[in-house]
Amino acid sequence: MPSQVETKTKSIEKNVKDIRHYINGQFVDSHSNEWFDNYNPFTNKKINQAASGDEKEIDEAVQSARKAFQGEWGSLKLKDRLAYIYRIADLIDEYIDEIAPLESYDTGLPVSQTKKMVARAAHNFRFYAEMVSSRLVGDAYQVDNEFLNYTIHKPVGIAGLITPWNAPFMLETWKIAPALATGNTVVLKPAEWSPLTANRLAEIIDKAELPDGVFNVVHGYGERAGASLVAHSDVELISFTGETTTGSEIMKNGADSLKQFSMELGGKSPIIVFDDADVDRALDACTWGIFSFNGERCTANSRLYIHENIADSFIERLKERVQNIVVGDPMKEDTQVGPLIHANHYNNVKNYLKIAEKEGCQVFSGNVPEEMSSGNFIPPTIILNADTEMTVVQEEIFGPVITVMTFKEEEEVIKLANNVRYGLAGYVWTKDIQRGHRVAQAVDSGMLWVNSQNVRDLRTPFGGSKHSGIGREGGHYAFEFYTEVQIIHVALGEHHIPQFGK
Ligand code: NAD
Repeated sequence: MPSQVETKTKSIEKNVKDIRHYINGQFVDSHSNEWFDNYNPFTNKKINQAASGDEKEIDEAVQSARKAFQGEWGSLKLKDRLAYIYRIADLIDEYIDEIAPLESYDTGLPVSQTKKMVARAAHNFRFYAEMVSSRLVGDAYQVDNEFLNYTIHKPVGIAGLITPWNAPFMLETWKIAPALATGNTVVLKPAEWSPLTANRLAEIIDKAELPDGVFNVVHGYGERAGASLVAHSDVELISFTGETTTGSEIMKNGADSLKQFSMELGGKSPIIVFDDADVDRALDACTWGIFSFNGERCTANSRLYIHENIADSFIERLKERVQNIVVGDPMKEDTQVGPLIHANHYNNVKNYLKIAEKEGCQVFSGNVPEEMSSGNFIPPTIILNADTEMTVVQEEIFGPVITVMTFKEEEEVIKLANNVRYGLAGYVWTKDIQRGHRVAQAVDSGMLWVNSQNVRDLRTPFGGSKHSGIGREGGHYAFEFYTEVQIIHVALGEHHIPQFGK
């Protein structure tokens, strides 16, 4: 008798079809008829193939987005536009039990976690519909009785959205929701390693009956489809989430067409645990913060700085956790860590573990059950005896791997925490409230949590400093990027006008 999980997986296998672009309200093949293969990270077997787009599909998508922007979408009343956004949210909720396993099947992310991500995706749409109706407001400036100056927000135009594979569905919606809610039209280029749920999202948006061309998806490789979107002269903005090196390449390629950029890039975030911390809670947060999402989390606490007074016991307990983490089939409800997205990424992460050994670290790993040998499994791993200049401290590994260092003094740990090129997130654990604030403010990061794991409040700004990003999304901060602010100056009376040549 096959288990429930096997039955579910088989049913996905049976129903999954080849994937096509979604352009101007139609699912279409590439002109070139080129395709790329998509693999299951748990078995490394081919799932299906997806149409591989290039500048032709991008151009068609952009033209249809332009037409929609200048036509029906651009002239909708706000209430009617937002009704579409709420409809998308409702449809995502309706299909959550189908989307979450599909995401797990495609990415290797455990299904208990993809369920939360999909729920958050629906919330992203609702949240931005509410934000636009309540917070997309201008300012008015009165100048005596002479002028009234006021600002309005206009949609920018066509938003080019380029997204990664590590939480694909949620991250796509994190951009699509504010882009559409503020009145733009969209061309999405999702990551080529995780096309299934991007396609499902296109089907959902199709079902929500948005006017043709408002939302388009072009699948394909970054260097072709992605680069064509960036270079297209009719795309006003690019919101990108992905690796830091890709971000800087994109900014170079978009320079000629003077695009606006929002960049959500890599991270190597510190967690600092002082000796007065609530150690039990810090341990829970630290373990979850690095091993959830299979460690493929941009805000993962991948560098642990533990005060030397509590280091031995904390590390022992962390080792115990690592050995007990449930590694397995991402489709199973109790799995905590699944396989990494792709064999290439698996090899990259493996290579970092070799580098760690070469650099003189001790590598302590948990267990992967033997029957998982065909998947891209890296066991939860702790790198010990690390030193600040080492590769494994400086570079983003993006897997279930935490690098541990000890410290004595507050000043010393702040220096260590800041001694990387990244500045996405940070975590500080202490019961001393003054020290908590002091250290939080001294760490170079876009986001910092005191005595907490990464708990998102969608109203707050999301983004990184240094090489972790440019700009902030989230809350009303997204409006700065997805809208153009226009100032209107209105003379109220007969103010002085210089009379040249009179
Ligand atoms: P990636 O940079 O390889 O790819 C991201 C996207 O960019 C993909 O869709 C890819 O096809 C596209 N792309 C690649 N080259 C391109 C080019 N030249 N022009 C246009 N598009 C191009 O990143 P990834 O491996 O998919 O994702 C992992 C990275 O994303 C990690 O570094 C992680 O930290 C980062 N990330 C950051 C955040 C954040 O909010 N800061 C969130 C999630 C992931």
